Amino acid sequence: MENNDKLFYRKNFIWNVINDEEKQGVFDLGDDYKKFIDASKTERLSIREIVRRAEENGFVNIEDLQEIKPGTKYYYVNKGKDAVLAVAGNERLENGMNIVGSHVDSPRIDLKQNPLYQEHGLTLLKTHYYGGIRKYQWVAIPLALYGTVVREDGEIIDVAIGDDENDPVFYITDLLPHLAKDQNDKKLSDAIEGESLNVIIGSLPADSNDEGTKFKLNVLKLLNGKYGMIEEDFQTAELEIVPAGKSRDVGIDRGMIMAYGHDDRVCAYTSLKAILELNNPEKTAIALFADKEEVGSNGSTGMHSLFFSNLAAEIIAIENNGNYCERKLKKAMANSSMLSSDVAAGLDPTYPQVSEKQNAAVMGQGVAMIKYTGSKGKSGANDANAEYIGKLRRLFNDSGVIWQSAELGKVDQGGGGTIAYIMANYNMDVVDLGVPVLSMHAPFEIVSKTDVYMTYKAYKTFYNKF
Ligand code: MN
Ligand code: MN
Repeated sequence: MENNDKLFYRKNFIWNVINDEEKQGVFDLGDDYKKFIDASKTERLSIREIVRRAEENGFVNIEDLQEIKPGTKYYYVNKGKDAVLAVAGNERLENGMNIVGSHVDSPRIDLKQNPLYQEHGLTLLKTHYYGGIRKYQWVAIPLALYGTVVREDGEIIDVAIGDDENDPVFYITDLLPHLAKDQNDKKLSDAIEGESLNVIIGSLPADSNDEGTKFKLNVLKLLNGKYGMIEEDFQTAELEIVPAGKSRDVGIDRGMIMAYGHDDRVCAYTSLKAILELNNPEKTAIALFADKEEVGSNGSTGMHSLFFSNLAAEIIAIENNGNYCERKLKKAMANSSMLSSDVAAGLDPTYPQVSEKQNAAVMGQGVAMIKYTGSKGKSGANDANAEYIGKLRRLFNDSGVIWQSAELGKVDQGGGGTIAYIMANYNMDVVDLGVPVLSMHAPFEIVSKTDVYMTYKAYKTFYNKF
């Protein structure tokens, strides 16, 4: 046997394998992705940008559909925080769907419901962080304020301050090193406490004799002038503090992108791009964009909610002239195949000790497939079936999709989960497949443009050929 090379498993860097046309595609896609993520600073804004692009590409709101024919492109939005895009297949829904499912919420800092206070010449906002942030990373950086306020008169107001270059930003202070002796002695995880993430929103007093309220009053006057808000409106608001600033290229070769919220908007973007370019698939193609993944997928917009299976029921009813059949719904779900499209932890050369190198996602070596997530003995894992992975492997290898399998990190080092295990409850095949990220959950994370491109190619191949 001469060709021993064939016996070994080897990984490649995408950049060394793709041709010039694909290399151009890597940079073009990176540029479009930056536009997407800059427009998608919150889950609501992500859904709006997804719907905007969907409509631009001929997708129609399901509420405006009379019938679903092969090739019909439509979308559904749940409470402004989830979206589902579909391209109807030649086969009926009960034969199963090809689903790519991501999430559009990212770790951030939410305002409390009664957030505003003044102290020692400053006006501040009390917060409660959302998702797994490392709190020390969110101090002393420029921050933006986004969200939705429901006023007493029922008016719904969009708030967005901090990303326009003429906007002010917001700020959470940290101690000066000169006075940080006690803080320096604390564990990193305790050095900045949740109740210390107070955001400065103002520093000038109103012209008032009431010392106890004049700083607050000034902020309230400005908010009232801009949004018609009064203080009680905070109670009925969802206001989020996110890093201010746009995405940027990283490195002198511009091979990477730094942005807030790659987890998981980079997978949302790549699946969106793939489904927007899809025509006449065999099986109905679904791009699913979920909320609340970072806090356990609960609530009416989290993946534990029934919104997706309710939608599938609706599609079956439309396909069958208004006659809903539960058996068909159950078959549709169980016959489906899904890529849970969430980011993977990239192998960081500065912190290799947390990864097991042979089973870690290397930056630039392709879309990462994670057979199982979970922690401490695969606990909580959706451990995908070898038969399903085998089918994907053949398809990807035949189609020039460069992929690598990965684990989050070393066994017993930690762990995490995605929406994979929730969808697997319907008895569908699900495996995690997404973009490797460095500094996951930091205010700014980084990805390789080559991996973003290859993830898009993987989803496109899945929709077209699986
Ligand atoms: Mn994620
Ligand atoms: Mn995450």
